[in-house]
Amino acid sequence: MRITFLGGAETVTGSKFLVETGQSRILIDCGLFQGYKWLRERNWQQLALDVHELDAVILTHAHLDHSGYIPVLYKQGFRGQVFTHHATKSLCQILLADSGHLQEEDAKYYSKHKLGKHAHPEPLYDRRTAENSMELFQSIDFDELVEIKDLRFYLQPAGHILGAASIILEAENKKIGFSGDVGRYSDVLMASPRPLPALDHLLMESTYGNRQHSNVDSLGQLADVVNNVARNGGVLLIPAFAVGRAQALQHILASLMAADVIPKIPIYLDSPMAIKVSDIFCEFKSQHRLNTEQCHRMCDVVTYTQSVEESKALAGQKYPHIIIAGSGMATGGRILHHFKRLLGNNKTTVLFTGYQAGGTRGAQLLEGANVVKIHGEWIPVRAKIDSISGLSGHGDYLELCQWLKNSDLTGSTQIHLVHGDAEALDGFRLYLQENTPFAVNVAVYGSVLQV
Ligand SMILES: [Zn+2]
Repeated sequence: MRITFLGGAETVTGSKFLVETGQSRILIDCGLFQGYKWLRERNWQQLALDVHELDAVILTHAHLDHSGYIPVLYKQGFRGQVFTHHATKSLCQILLADSGHLQEEDAKYYSKHKLGKHAHPEPLYDRRTAENSMELFQSIDFDELVEIKDLRFYLQPAGHILGAASIILEAENKKIGFSGDVGRYSDVLMASPRPLPALDHLLMESTYGNRQHSNVDSLGQLADVVNNVARNGGVLLIPAFAVGRAQALQHILASLMAADVIPKIPIYLDSPMAIKVSDIFCEFKSQHRLNTEQCHRMCDVVTYTQSVEESKALAGQKYPHIIIAGSGMATGGRILHHFKRLLGNNKTTVLFTGYQAGGTRGAQLLEGANVVKIHGEWIPVRAKIDSISGLSGHGDYLELCQWLKNSDLTGSTQIHLVHGDAEALDGFRLYLQENTPFAVNVAVYGSVLQV
């Protein structure tokens, strides 16, 4: 068996691992490269793979850095099956269509403003192609054994987001594990990741390979922020990712209100995508920690604003209130309209709840910027800018290590580190070499592993 690292190696995005046996050829994950321009350019390069010779794709989870390249394969003529968990299929239906839509918008913007000078005035794929590619999806349960020619595999829960799985694959008398993104032992929504069985090889994610989540009480922090906003009579703006983070915030705010820790001020979820994801979340009750009552409470406590008109009407709402809107790093989405309206008001508080990549408006605001540019306009910042940590969907290096120790892996298991930036990969390699019996190396982009 050969495994080729076509993406998600030496970086956190573009996850793609090609597995070739004597009879079959399958792709594990099919993600978009994201972030820096030199990485995004890889989405436009010819993949070292003839899609017509590909038997199937297996997806670990719905995040675009693992699924967002499926429509490109479809566009190139791939018509095999895409196997994944039922919840991942439901989430992909929303995320892939949105990804196609955003790429159409970007292409339009570049054609209009750069007059064709941009390298790619065409979208990588459009919304219709993304929607059509869903016909390839074949959703399955956790632990359902699937055979493809001479190999077989099953999914097991990884706790990262709804439907997130590790893949356990067997062929030619070898057993290989693909961790996918691994969740946490104390996530507010998702159950803990299931330990792995004995394996010959493991491709292991390393996003937080050199970092530890802080032990601060994030619920207490959030309660303090809400109480301050309620006292001052302003608006609390929370930029949030549509999958996972928005639902965690809904649940935490609902619980704090039910326990009378914070006052019952209006909460608006101003993100059509997050609204759909929240519905899916409540549909897949067995996949997370919340019971029916908690799901109802989480949805009841929030007012959904679907249309642009409803979103605009929030400007007329009484203070204090809370608005949760995308995008999580304030790089786009409806949060920007609220920023334009409210950043100049010293009664506004902006609360970031996740990692803010360098160069984004989120990072600029956290660094104390006095003005930020939004839609070509400079907006003064008088709002209070705050952040809480602890809501991450990724295990830190200690949790990842705990997961490995809980597993049935032995000293003969070889671990290949993927899905991390250079420092995280190297830090995690050193830590594992010193603290575990496993043989560990960092997978190189484009390299081939003979199993
Ligand atoms: Zn992920």
